[in-house]
Amino acid sequence: MALYRDQGVVLRTHKLGEADRIITLFTAGHGRIRAVAKGIRRTKSRFGSRLEPMSWVNGQFYEGRNLDIVTQVETAHRFEHLRSDHERLHRAAVMLEAVEHTTQEGGPDRGIFNLLTGALRELDRTGNHSVLPAFVAKLLMLEGIQPQVDACVVCGRIEQIEAINLHQGGVLCSHHRSGQPIGPEVRRALSLVFAGEVRRMLDETSAGIADATEVLAMQLLEQHLERRLKSASVFRTAI
Ligand SMILES: [Zn+2]
Repeated sequence: MALYRDQGVVLRTHKLGEADRIITLFTAGHGRIRAVAKGIRRTKSRFGSRLEPMSWVNGQFYEGRNLDIVTQVETAHRFEHLRSDHERLHRAAVMLEAVEHTTQEGGPDRGIFNLLTGALRELDRTGNHSVLPAFVAKLLMLEGIQPQVDACVVCGRIEQIEAINLHQGGVLCSHHRSGQPIGPEVRRALSLVFAGEVRRMLDETSAGIADATEVLAMQLLEQHLERRLKSASVFRTAI
């Protein structure tokens, strides 16, 4: 069996048998992998609590036919605030779920790894409300999606823009509306986010609009993935 080392972020875990867990990680060199951590649910497990969702670890793995096996693991980066702050925790959970459902197993993607780890660090450090919209915009752009936000994608009208639909390629006027409703202020904030001007978006946007932009970013993610994100439900109830 081949042995390899890699670093990765734990996306989720689930129980296997009596004492084991299957750990889903997004790694720098091997993309999304699943590996068994044997004996991890025993009180004296050598893995300790290092393989919880959101943990960023350096590990050593045996390559298996279906599932790899974790043989060693060390913490690569410790997040100080992600788990203790509810708001940050929910946002981080959305990011993990998005990466899990965007990526295929076994396809290395350094761009996504860098995006995820960068966004988690920023969220951990600042708790900033722009982190999630910026993450969603970059993830969509890595997937080749950049919605048109200045004019209706059907007729080119710039007045009475009322909705946004990623399957149509961007915003829609009152005649052609489908997808999610969008107001002018959120549309402007979103266009700044897609232009990479996240700092400016924060400076020029009220807290209420920043929050609405965040909710819309999650809805766009759900449109793209064609599924509802479990971890986004807390934001839906907050609207
Ligand atoms: Zn139109």
